[in-house]
Amino acid sequence: MIEEGAQEAAIGAFLLAHQGHTQDVEVQRGAWTIYCLCKRCDDVHTYEVDNEARERALGLPPWPKLKKKMGEPRAGP
Ligand SMILES: [Zn+2]
Repeated sequence: MIEEGAQEAAIGAFLLAHQGHTQDVEVQRGAWTIYCLCKRCDDVHTYEVDNEARERALGLPPWPKLKKKMGEPRAGP
């Protein structure tokens, strides 16, 4: 499991591990998974992303809405 926003780092690490055969590397990004494949090495890595979309998919409640302070009565003229 990787943090949301760490996708680029995870992909970068995979590409670095397969430096020189990037033309054989396939990367597929899903909503909450990243699938990395190197055909030359027959190496497959799947990363699960820990993000809000995943939480929604798992049925967790959404983030509480921030209450906006609007129309607050003034002390007077
Ligand atoms: Zn490789």
